[in-house]
Amino acid sequence: MKNNNENKAIDARNSLNFIQNIIEEDLKTGKRTNVHTRFPPEPNGYLHIGHAKSICLNFGLAKQYNGLCNLRFDDTNPTKEDVEYVESIKEDVHWLGFDWDDRMYYASDYFEKLYQYAVQLIKAGKAYVCELSAEEIKEYKGTPTRQGKESPYRNRSIDENLLLFEQMRAGKFDEGTHLLRAKIDMSSPNMHMRDPAVYRMKKQNHHRTGDKWCIYPMYDFAHGLSDAIEGITHSVCTLEFEVHRPLYDWFLKALDISPRPQQIEFARLNLSYTIMSKRKLMELVEGNYVDGWNDPRMPTVSGLRRRGYTAASIRSFANTIGVAKRNNVIDVALLEHSVREDLNKVANRVMCVLNPLKVIIDNYPDDLVEEIDAINNPEDASKGSRKVPFSKEFYIERDDFMEEPPKKFFRLTQGREIRLRYAYYITCVDVVKDKKTGEIIELHCTYDPQTKGGSSPDGRKVKSTLHWVSAKHALNAEVRLYDRLFFDEDPAGRKDANFKDFLNKDSLTKLNNCKVEPSLKNAKNGTSFQFERLGYFCIDIDSSPDNLLINRTVALRDSWAKIKKK
Ligand code: ATP
Ligand code: MG
Repeated sequence: MKNNNENKAIDARNSLNFIQNIIEEDLKTGKRTNVHTRFPPEPNGYLHIGHAKSICLNFGLAKQYNGLCNLRFDDTNPTKEDVEYVESIKEDVHWLGFDWDDRMYYASDYFEKLYQYAVQLIKAGKAYVCELSAEEIKEYKGTPTRQGKESPYRNRSIDENLLLFEQMRAGKFDEGTHLLRAKIDMSSPNMHMRDPAVYRMKKQNHHRTGDKWCIYPMYDFAHGLSDAIEGITHSVCTLEFEVHRPLYDWFLKALDISPRPQQIEFARLNLSYTIMSKRKLMELVEGNYVDGWNDPRMPTVSGLRRRGYTAASIRSFANTIGVAKRNNVIDVALLEHSVREDLNKVANRVMCVLNPLKVIIDNYPDDLVEEIDAINNPEDASKGSRKVPFSKEFYIERDDFMEEPPKKFFRLTQGREIRLRYAYYITCVDVVKDKKTGEIIELHCTYDPQTKGGSSPDGRKVKSTLHWVSAKHALNAEVRLYDRLFFDEDPAGRKDANFKDFLNKDSLTKLNNCKVEPSLKNAKNGTSFQFERLGYFCIDIDSSPDNLLINRTVALRDSWAKIKKK
């Protein structure tokens, strides 16, 4: 029998993910004495929820093992990078709750060092300047089933290579005419090992180094060496880099680097009903299909934030899905579930009527205003209560009333008594309609003064409780209801269709005549609330006191919780 402590240790080990297992083994065997990770975004777009997963993983591992995590902009590609993206990435990482302290780097900071590494490769006879054209290189490369052919430039002397490489740097040649290649193996079954490119010529301005360089290092070369320069121990990346790992290791070995960082691959996050590629997200932004990178329908970190997602809910989501070795698709309902769980704990409850229908209580004093106590959060007694004004005229939701209700409709109808949340029992006595259109304009009710606070002293029961907002105290607001941006589960997965064909035309509904209780008057932009019976909402970043703008984060109905119960 194992004692309790041993069992606990086993439990702890079993609940580790495979990357934590590798790290613990490395620390135990002394292969490593520290943990140093990095998050390496390419600043060519805004971060999305997949990146958030990677951020939580990399910064989370560092935190767990008392190590460090760097932020490194992987800006080796001069064409499409931008400071706007750099700033947004920094903001998003901070917002998610992580900090790189003073360790923010750019791969472009290492261009000189990387150049020297390339020279070292040439001197070791492990790289050469190739003058084949792009088509020839492709032809010589072979296919996975056909061996490659060696370049006629492969056996140039070291001196000649050094000179040509220097001339490449000096811009003596045209783009596309000269390439520095690693001398590895043209018959390798791994195509990435067939003399891959190390440096290419690009006479383009770089957002940080300007016109200083006209040669730029390839990703495979720059990435592992940047890891080495920063002392990264565990270089965590997504699965598609698995086939690049032999090359990652080859460069480190060829350059005699020690200790060497270790590349570890995990499955990228895929979400149903969502696209997760910066290129495609950019297409939506540039084609005005959405209102910018931070449109609340976007799966970007800034979009989710604007929608009302909390950082805690995203961290909890990342944690729940864990780290997989095989690609899979996560149900977007799980992400929605995570934000509901968090907001349920932290968001105050308030009342808002989205589609107002006016109600008048005939037997309520004309000028009386009662301040009714309402609980801010039943999940958290420390949040206390607030006063909500109640008066003769107020609004309820249009669809909380039906003239000819079906059997299971328990809300208001003529002759029926219901409860107003925190207030009184009321009974509908009359319906006023527009004579021409037949549309219901207002309801007349009576109230029972004995039911103050929402309960009856004689124990009389009612079947429903409705939310309401006092008419003369109500604030007007525009509420935006968001739905999924795509109606297809896998919008990017069809070969025969464009992902934009699956855009949900009803992903945004704007309601401009919503009535909110007055306590929202001084709420700061970005604050989240539960609107009773409706869902979680958040004040938009562009909202102002005279133009209140509110975004729905999620409705209350939790399809994930239902799935879990089954
Ligand atoms: P995309 O393909 O969406 O444009 P990317 O991989 O080109 O993304 P990078 O800026 O290169 O974007 O990514 C930075 C880091 O985030 C990398 O380590 C990458 O592996 C990781 N990452 C990107 N997408 C995902 C995802 N869906 N799930 C987990 N990690 C991701
Ligand atoms: Mg990338």
